[in-house]
Amino acid sequence: MLEHLSPSSVHTFFQCPHKFYINKIEGIPDRTQYAMTVFGTAMHKALDIYSRVFDIRVSVDVLTETLKDLYGQVTVNTDMTECQLTQMGTIALTEFAMKFGATLVPVETEFPITIKRPNKIDIKTIIDYLDEDKIIDYKLGKSWFNTSNPYDYELNMFTYAYAYKEHFGKWPKLYIIRAKYRQKDRQTIFGDWVVDELNLQEDKAEDYFYFYDTVERAIKDGFFPRTLDKKFCGYCSYKGSTCAQTLPYINKEVQNVL
Ligand code: SF4
Repeated sequence: MLEHLSPSSVHTFFQCPHKFYINKIEGIPDRTQYAMTVFGTAMHKALDIYSRVFDIRVSVDVLTETLKDLYGQVTVNTDMTECQLTQMGTIALTEFAMKFGATLVPVETEFPITIKRPNKIDIKTIIDYLDEDKIIDYKLGKSWFNTSNPYDYELNMFTYAYAYKEHFGKWPKLYIIRAKYRQKDRQTIFGDWVVDELNLQEDKAEDYFYFYDTVERAIKDGFFPRTLDKKFCGYCSYKGSTCAQTLPYINKEVQNVL
């Protein structure tokens, strides 16, 4: 039984319920990642270190080491090399230090938080930057805003805000600090840092639990169809034999109905 859900597991489910099944229920690791996802993971670690020691050299070392480790562990789907990502990250970290310096002093970074849900699967997430009255989320790897996928960034931010309120008894201010990229000579390069303040409608916040409830219902029903949107299959590490051979989990009641 799945012990907890997270915004990213919900994101996987809404891309492809069958991928969610293979990864989260069967426990088969996802060994393929987009370059910008790998970049985002490494930059999160580098920014976490920066906000503790405010030393750009230390954070660049963390970025370099993390990218090296990740390129050794997963297949990275893209034409961007480890070297290009290291260069782009070094520029981004230098610009970050110049723009924000030591003004961002968090109470906590990489703060794990759990939303307990009686008779339901708990939700676990990690807050990038936590202060006395605000949460900052770094958006580095993927497109940070996609209105056709509201469960993506909105679900993330709602989950942080709701968890914060559960923990501290008040709603936080919400900010996104995002890396803005541009294309040059068909290469993705770092452009600038952008700060956005988000307005969370508190009276609607609980509506976002709908997405977690939908995943939970699928788990109870054992219903994990393969996605109809084949663009998600392009870079899926389960494409081919794993996807074809993995039987969707179907529980006994559903089997009886069938
Ligand atoms: S290959 Fe496509 S259908 Fe199969 S698990 Fe991956 S995303 Fe889903």
